[in-house]
Amino acid sequence: LLDFNENMSQVTGETTLLYKEIARNVEKTKKIKIIDFGIGQPDLPTFKRIRDAAKEALDQGFTFYTSAFGIDELREKIAQYLNTRYGADVRKEEVIVTPGAKPALFLVFILYINPGDEVILPDPSFYSYAEVVKLLGGKPIYTNLKWSKEGFSIDVDDLQSKISKRTKMIVFNNPHNPTGTLFSPNDVKKIVDISRDNKIILLSDEIYDNFVYEGKMRSTLEDSDWRDFLIYVNGFSKTFSMTGWRLGYIVAKREIIQKMGVLAANIYTAPTSFVQKAAVKAFDTFDEVNEMVKLFKKRRDVMYDQLIKVKGIEVSKPNGAFYMFPNAGKLLKISGLDVKSFAIRLIEEKGVVTIPGEVFPLNIGKEFLRLSFAVNEEVIREGVQKIREFAEQMM
Ligand code: PLP
Repeated sequence: LLDFNENMSQVTGETTLLYKEIARNVEKTKKIKIIDFGIGQPDLPTFKRIRDAAKEALDQGFTFYTSAFGIDELREKIAQYLNTRYGADVRKEEVIVTPGAKPALFLVFILYINPGDEVILPDPSFYSYAEVVKLLGGKPIYTNLKWSKEGFSIDVDDLQSKISKRTKMIVFNNPHNPTGTLFSPNDVKKIVDISRDNKIILLSDEIYDNFVYEGKMRSTLEDSDWRDFLIYVNGFSKTFSMTGWRLGYIVAKREIIQKMGVLAANIYTAPTSFVQKAAVKAFDTFDEVNEMVKLFKKRRDVMYDQLIKVKGIEVSKPNGAFYMFPNAGKLLKISGLDVKSFAIRLIEEKGVVTIPGEVFPLNIGKEFLRLSFAVNEEVIREGVQKIREFAEQMM
């Protein structure tokens, strides 16, 4: 029973959950109030119009399998939205709806990765890219993002140097988890150029594209020749606060989407029917989305203003997503703790959950912590104050 796929030994589950587990124990045994900066989802209820549309679809009996590609109405809406927003010319046949962005990424990797293929990933990055690549016998190759007090950027020379004959794909994520970076239009252009010039597939995960606070979001779909190099992934989880509904999508040229449909039909048949109907209405809720983003911007400012006062921590103000990624290197040095022990002690002594950078599997210096600001302002103030007290104890 335990004779698993041999690659499974290298694959880990969602390690962010480990820290929540520790927090649950601390809450139970020590009765300490938990402040959770570990969360990776908006805290607002899914907008009413979306919930109503789901109920209506259920009541109308829209509860059967749909096409593996998703319902036409939704594919059409997604294409229209991307075309209006990014000036792309996506057609319905170039969209497949999936049960979340993670399954979308999974389909992309299964479709392309042969054992031994190399996939270039930013370091740090969303943990699950590397895990799925390893599961398929592929090899994650990391390109370090450059860090300075102003934030993170792409190191083009480093990226170029990581390309080999076995490079199958470059993964890009903008705005970026875990750093909250909105990459500059110029950085996006550089990535696109490298992919195009070297004829390497670019897998672009733009799931946080509505969480932009300053600066311009340049999508990889804005290049008119995107069909020649791009596989684009997005989803409903973050933008419409729909994480539990499980819905995402892939955009790529028609032949690729056809193959994705074959995989989808064999793996999960189709995305959930009534959730798709609700998602059609999601595109009418951008007033609510904009309100949410305004709220998150305020929270970001509050967290940043508090965090810069913590001695031993250096933080840049993120322009996207809902994460802050401070460098706690100085504090770690003084305390003699590694980042993981630091995060655990912070939970055990102060009840504050952060995610240590090494989860994202960081090589550029295991000195960072990820804090989510998808929590209310008061909680942000209280939590960062506790981090400040904890830091002062270490000094
Ligand atoms: N991609 C990135 C960068 C994410 O941060 C997440 C969720 O945390 C996902 C994809 C997965 O999103 P979904 O809920 O649509 O599977």
